[in-house]
Parts: sequence; structure tokens; C-alpha cells
Amino acid sequence: MSFEHLASKAPREQSLERTLPLFIMGMLLLVIGAAFVVTGRELLRSARIAAAERLRNVTRELAASAESSAQQHARTVRGAARDPVIRRALAGDSVAPAELDSALHRIVPAGDSAVAIGLWRAGGAAVSRRVLVVQEGAPEQRGGVMPTPGDSARYGPLYLDDGRVYYWVVAPVGTGAHPAGWIAERRRLTVTAGAVRQINALVGRDVGVYFRNDTGSLWATLSGAPARPSESDGHLDGIPLRRRRDRPTMGPLLLAEAPIRGTPWTLALELPVGTATTGARATLARLAMVNLVLLLVAAVAAWALSRRLTRPLVQLTHAAAEIARGAFTPIHERWAARGDEVGRLAAGFNRMASEVAASRAALEQQVKEAQTLGDELERANAELQESTLRAEHARVAAEEANRAKSEFLAMMSHELRTPLNAIAGYTELLQLGIHGPLTTAQHEDLERIRHSQRTLLTLIDDVLNYARIEAGRVEYAVSEIPLDETLAGMEALIAPQARVKGITYEHRPAGAAVRVWADRRKLEQIVLNLLSNAVKFTGRGGRITVDGTATGDHVLVRVTDTGCGIAPDKLESIFEPFTQAEAGLTRTSGGTGLGLAICREFARAMGGDVYVERSAEPGGSTFAVRLLARAPREGGAIAAASAPDRASDGGWHAPRPR
Ligand code: ADP
Repeated sequence: MSFEHLASKAPREQSLERTLPLFIMGMLLLVIGAAFVVTGRELLRSARIAAAERLRNVTRELAASAESSAQQHARTVRGAARDPVIRRALAGDSVAPAELDSALHRIVPAGDSAVAIGLWRAGGAAVSRRVLVVQEGAPEQRGGVMPTPGDSARYGPLYLDDGRVYYWVVAPVGTGAHPAGWIAERRRLTVTAGAVRQINALVGRDVGVYFRNDTGSLWATLSGAPARPSESDGHLDGIPLRRRRDRPTMGPLLLAEAPIRGTPWTLALELPVGTATTGARATLARLAMVNLVLLLVAAVAAWALSRRLTRPLVQLTHAAAEIARGAFTPIHERWAARGDEVGRLAAGFNRMASEVAASRAALEQQVKEAQTLGDELERANAELQESTLRAEHARVAAEEANRAKSEFLAMMSHELRTPLNAIAGYTELLQLGIHGPLTTAQHEDLERIRHSQRTLLTLIDDVLNYARIEAGRVEYAVSEIPLDETLAGMEALIAPQARVKGITYEHRPAGAAVRVWADRRKLEQIVLNLLSNAVKFTGRGGRITVDGTATGDHVLVRVTDTGCGIAPDKLESIFEPFTQAEAGLTRTSGGTGLGLAICREFARAMGGDVYVERSAEPGGSTFAVRLLARAPREGGAIAAASAPDRASDGGWHAPRPR
């Protein structure tokens, strides 16, 4: 599996040591900044609301104050209207001008802002023009003051005359529904320097104080100069704002107005919003300083904290990189000794590093051993290949030798059989008396020749058969055959030999139903060989028994004799080819030592076996042939319908002479 795709997508390398303080600072900046902005907005808003409220209160106070001074002056004018000199003047009585002036001047003390004062009869004609300024016309025509019956003095609206702002104060002279006339005073709008100082002290220098008619028709400053009215400039926090075109630098203004009762005027106070929030802004500036200091302290703390957090991580990263390069450097004990999570992580890392180091060392050792083992295996493999090669050569050589042996045996058998058959033929001719009658001695000699010829032929057949078995050239025609019938056929073959030695032969039938899965010829050869051996190794007067037993899937054929028996250490070796129990020149019986080997080969090839079941010295032996009772379910060593048995050509038809 390849991890290259992961490597190519590896994130850009970043240092937590640098980014963490920046991140903490950023967060702090965000939080403190947001808190500052929210606080600032709230502070300014509160300051504006408080200033607006204060402005309203001050405006009401000033309006009340203006109202009281207006009332006071109205009382003065009314007092003058009751003056007997003035009444007489309006009644048409003769009044000395000096006397009238003196009466009128009581209304207007020295330094007053009144610029004219006059008397009018009810008909509108001026009585006196000798007062301060001669006035023409009715007072209402000059100041717009409508005279009212009764005893009260009235204030007229502000009006502009020659660049200055004036107003009239008018009071009736006389009582009742028809006064005798009016006393009217034309006054210039002005506030004394002392009053201005008081106002400034009350509202501050930045506040604009204006008088205006209730109708809004004219605006005037405290000093009596006409002024432009301010314009609406929207709302802020629900407070209506104004703006002055003539003083744009003042910015938005807070406006508070209060009517001056007893007059048709309204007092208007305008306070720049900037001035209203001066205190709040100063507080904000201090707060900003505090925040800055806090931020600096927090920055240092964040740097220290992140360093404390990230240093061990940096160490861990370096140590991990070292491990990747194969060097196992533990993290400094200072970090590992810390009791917190970082300390535990460092301690765990050190443990892991030492374990990895130990595992790596062990692994390296194992790799070395594996390499050594691999070298040895390679050597062994080379040796094995060499041996295999040698074995192959040996096998080829053995096969070659075997083939040569088989060829030799075939040739030998052929070469020996021909003269042996010739011997048999000629012997038979002599025995038949074709060349003249024979004496008894000649008959006996010819019989010995015949016996020797048969023995030789049997020997040759044994050798040839075994050679065929070894070469794998034996074929089997297996089928289910009746056991008793096969064994019964043996008696005719073995009985003559048994009779010669006075041996009793007995066949105990297994039952007609018992069948066996075998090649009939091969089975006959096996049983005949066992019987021949039994006759050969059983003494005169002995006994030979053949019986068959069905045991489930198998059938056992036993050949029991009362002969010499076999030594226990020879019980297996007698099945080896060319092996006999009686070895060497001391043996009393003939034979090649091939019979049992051939029997076992045949039996095994048919799915069974041949073995010695019992043997006693003396006491005789029991040889057993185990065979299958029926055809194997599948596969097996034998083909049920094989070719005709060519092995039978080897002369197994007759019992071998002994
Ligand atoms: P051969 O009989 O030609 O020597 P076998 O292979 O048939 O060869 O027998 C091998 C040997 O087994 C015999 O030489 C003999 O020593 C021993 N043997 C076989 N059958 C018997 C038997 N029934 N009793 C005693 N010994 C036996």
C-alpha cells in the first residue's frame, strides 16, 4: 500500500508556538474590542439621553426665569398705567410735559432696553409725542399687540427692525370695558451681561440660547440679534437632532424648547452633541487606555501560556521526528516531571520511545538472525537442489538400470524357457517310450529331470513376475467373485503335493454368500503361493487348513499350517523380495524368496494385504489375506474393467513344484 498520496496532501507546515499566541491575541482583541464598542455606544447613548434631559430641565428653568422677569416688568407697566398723571393726560387734562415725562420714566429706569414709550387714547390718537421717541399710530400697528380690556399688560411678538429685534409691551390705562387709552412700550430684545453670565454658568458656553416667536416666525439670540432657525437633522436614539447651516462645525445639535408664559415667545436651547458627550468620550478614552493595558498584559500572558503549552509539544514533535530518523532521544525530564496532562504525555512519550528503541533493537537482532537463517536456508536450498539433481541423476540411472534389468530378465527368461521347454518335451517323449522301452531306473531319472525342469521354470516365472510388478506392467481384472468357489478350486492343485508328504488338507467354506472384490487369477496365485509354502514348511503328517471369513467391508482368507513356524524377528522381513527365514547355505527348502513379496504386491494393489497372523516355533503359522468385500466407492487402486491379465502368461496356472 502506498502512502504517497497522503504525503502529497500533507498540510502546509505551521507552528503552534507562533500561531497560538496570535490566535489568543486575536480572540482577546475581538472580545475586548467588541466589549469596548458596545460599552462606548451605550455610554454615548446614555450621555446623549442624560444631556437631552438636562437640557430640557435647564430650558424649563430659564423659561420660568424669563417668565418671572416678564411678569415683573408687566407689573411695572401696569403700575405706570395707574399713575394719576398719565390718567389725566389721557383724560385730556392739562399736564405739564415735565410731569408726564417723569411719570413715564418711572416705567423705564436708566439702562433699560426700552427704546420708545407712548400714550394713546382709545381713539388711536397719540397724546404725547414728547416721550423718548415720538411714535405714530396704534401700538398694535407697531408691535402687533392687540390691546385687551382690563388691567393686564401684554407682550407682543418679536419683530425685526433695522437689523435688531424688538417687541412691544402694552397695558390699558383705566378700567372697565372701555379704557381711556393705552400705554405702550417698545423694547429691544436683549439680555444683560449679568444674565448672560448666569445663563452660561447654568448651561455652559457651548449652548446656543435663542428666543423665537411661538409661531416660529423669528429667531433671535440672547443679545437681540436675529438668528437663522436650525434645521431638522434626523433622530439618534429617539432624540430629534438639529443642524445649523450658519455654524456647520458644531455638528448635530440637541434642541430643547419651552414656552415663556405671559409672552408669545419660546425659549430654545441648542447643545452640540459633541459637547453633550464630552464626559462620556473622556471616560471612553480612559477605558481605551485601560483596555490597551489589559490587552498588553493579556498578550504577555498568552505568549507565556502558549509557550508553556507548546514547548513540550515542540519537543515532542522533534523527538518524534528523531524517532522517525531512528534516534531515540527522550523528552527533557523537566517536561516529563510536570504533573499536568502535558507532563503525563511527555512521560508516556518517553516510555513509548524507550519501548520503541528496545523493540527496534530486538527487531534489528531478529533481522540479523533472519538474514543468517536466510543465508543458511539459501545454502541448504542450494545443497537440496544439488541433491535433487543428484537424486534425479540417480533416478534416471536407476530407471535405466531397471529397464536394463527388465530387458535382461525378459531375455533371460525367454532364453531359459526355450531350452527348458525342449527338455520337458524330450523328457516326455522318452517317458512315452518313443525311443524304446525304459527301465524303472530310467523312468525315475526322467521323472527327476522333469521335476528339476519344473522347478527351474517356476523360479524363472517368479523372477519374471516380480520384474513385471516392479516395472508396473501388471494389470488387474477385478470383480466380485464367490470366495468358496475360488478356494475350492485350490484343492485340486495342492492336494497331490500334500498327499506326497502325508499332510491333511482341509477347506472350511465361508458360505455361498461371501464374495470378494479381486482379480480371480491374482487371488488364486496368492492362495496357491501360501498353500505351497505351507506344504513346503510343514513336516510329514502335518495339517493345512484354508478358511474364509467376512468381516464387514473386508474378507479374510487364512492359510494355517502345523509346520516349523517363523522366528519372531523374521515375521516382516520374509515379505521383502529375495528374503527367506532360513538364510544362506543351511536352508533346507528351495525357492527364490519372491513368493510372499509378489503376494503382498498383488493383495495391496487390490486394496488388501497379506501378513502373518500367528506363528509359533514349532507349532506352525497362519498367513492371512485381507481383501475388500465389495468395490470401493470411488477411485481406488484398481480399474474394474482392465485389460486381460498378461501376467498370467508367466505360468501361475499350476502349483509350483517344490
Ligand atoms: P520361497 O518360498 O520361494 O523361499 P517366499 O517368499 O514364498 O519364498 O517365502 C519366504 C520365506 O518365508 C521362506 O523361505 C520361508 O523361510 C518363510 N515361510 C514362508 N511360508 C512359511 C510357512 N508356511 N512356514 C514357515 N516359514 C515360511
